[in-house]
Amino acid sequence: MTYDFDLFVIGAGSGGVRAARFAAGFGAKVAVAESRYLGGTCVNVGCVPKKLLVYGAHFADEFEQASGFGWTLGAKPDFDWATLISNKNREIQRLNGIYRNLLVNSGVTLLESHAKVVDAHHVEVDGKTFSAEHILIATGGWPQIPDIPGHEHAINSNQAFFLKELPKRVLVVGGGYIAVEFASIFNGLGAETTQLYRGELFLRGFDGAVRKHLKEELTKSGINLQFNADIARIDKLADGSLQATLKDGRVLATDCVFYATGRRPMLDNLGLENTQVQLDDRGFIAVDDQFQTHEPSILALGDVIGRVQLTPVALAEGMAVARRLFKPEQYRAVDYQHIPTAVFSLPNIGTVGLTEEQARDAGHNVVVYQSDFKPMKLTLTSSQERTLMKLVVDADSDKVLGCHMVGPDAGEIVQGLAVALKAGATKRIFDDTLGVHPTAAEEFVTMRTPVGA
Ligand code: FAD
Ligand code: NDP
Repeated sequence: MTYDFDLFVIGAGSGGVRAARFAAGFGAKVAVAESRYLGGTCVNVGCVPKKLLVYGAHFADEFEQASGFGWTLGAKPDFDWATLISNKNREIQRLNGIYRNLLVNSGVTLLESHAKVVDAHHVEVDGKTFSAEHILIATGGWPQIPDIPGHEHAINSNQAFFLKELPKRVLVVGGGYIAVEFASIFNGLGAETTQLYRGELFLRGFDGAVRKHLKEELTKSGINLQFNADIARIDKLADGSLQATLKDGRVLATDCVFYATGRRPMLDNLGLENTQVQLDDRGFIAVDDQFQTHEPSILALGDVIGRVQLTPVALAEGMAVARRLFKPEQYRAVDYQHIPTAVFSLPNIGTVGLTEEQARDAGHNVVVYQSDFKPMKLTLTSSQERTLMKLVVDADSDKVLGCHMVGPDAGEIVQGLAVALKAGATKRIFDDTLGVHPTAAEEFVTMRTPVGA
């Protein structure tokens, strides 16, 4: 049987574009449908614009610290949200164009519209039906806000990137990556920022010392952290401001309520009911270790399968699918161990490998090395910010199981450590590695005394 395409990809985000480009490069006839924006979440309402806003927010600290190095700034620094957002939008438009060129130049047929699966081998776009030997669902996720009274007055991360003005007061709800990052963004740019998290301590799943350290640092930076706190209802007042009533009865006045309480898979009008594709118990598309759904000709990857919602993971999954289908001799399974990750709060978290808690739960005989210090850059300033570095080591094998950091550039520093962990580095190898002096990063190779020794 002949098909219009060897591979029909739904969604031109991180995973879909990677799979499509490489499949086309391996000689396959490929189509991609994209209903919203080329490059997907990461490029348009995720990693990229978020990082630009984080850079913007960090200037507040830089201006404050400059005087310790002899600089006198003229007038009080003034920030204009509209300028940042319009410059950000221009950069994203440039990236959209790059993604278009990447796809078109690699020979992919690009359909800039919504796609719906009709059956195991057919997809409908704008009333036209295309046949494909394989269909790849890479439709990503979408922010979800709990269905509380007044939830329509709250915004999500998609909307935050396009606010007309910076709110004077903002309540950030959630304790995951997005909530922590946006609390730092709003705070750094000058909004009076309160973060509400329903549990004891935010960033569940991260190392305990990292979570505590970040809590202290964010508090020092001026964010009002409220744990064991959750909103019961939101009301809009006559003057346009908002009032959030908490479950414990407290009432908070604000101008913006920003929810970052997780993301659901994007399955809207996708037509999965026309197929054998099944969802897992959390509602994400169920796939096997080859990204195949219960419908053999349909694959899925990235955020829509809900494994690890990070761009490099979606890219690796896209690569694996393209290779398995069209270049099997180059196929390598995706390795979900040692995924480095950063939370771009101010200061950043950088982490790779097991947390101390995970290492203990897995039965390792754990030794911890930890260092907490004032970074050299801040010694001439009045900043009280401190950096945390932590190594989790298996005492029996001497293998480093996890590296964790809270501090400036932690995201940059952890990338190299991820290579070391993937290569199976022992603490002895860390000790034998010469430092780069004077840096904060060298602390990772100079920690000699275990905690509690
Ligand atoms: P997506 O990138 O979401 O792409 C899916 C695409 O499919 C979208 O373009 C969508 O419009 C399209 N689509 C959906 N349905 C259809 C349809 N029926 N027809 C046609 N097209 C359709 N990850 C990191 O690694 N680092 C970060 O710093 C980071 N920051 C983030 C910040 C925020 C605020 C958010 C929300 C996410 C962030 N992420 C980050 C996560 C990262 O963006 C995602 O993991 C990644 O984009 C997932 O890629 P994907 O290909 O699965 O889906
Ligand atoms: P996360 O899943 O990381 O965090 C969701 C947070 O919301 C948790 O603190 C959770 O609490 C809380 N929550 C969930 N439901 C409710 C509710 N009904 N009421 C109150 N609180 C609730 O989701 P995010 O939205 O922050 O981000 C989605 C994903 O995107 C991340 O997991 C990450 O994979 C990716 N991302 C990556 C970034 C990076 O690499 N730097 C940056 C941004 C996003 P609890 O812990 O108690 O369940």
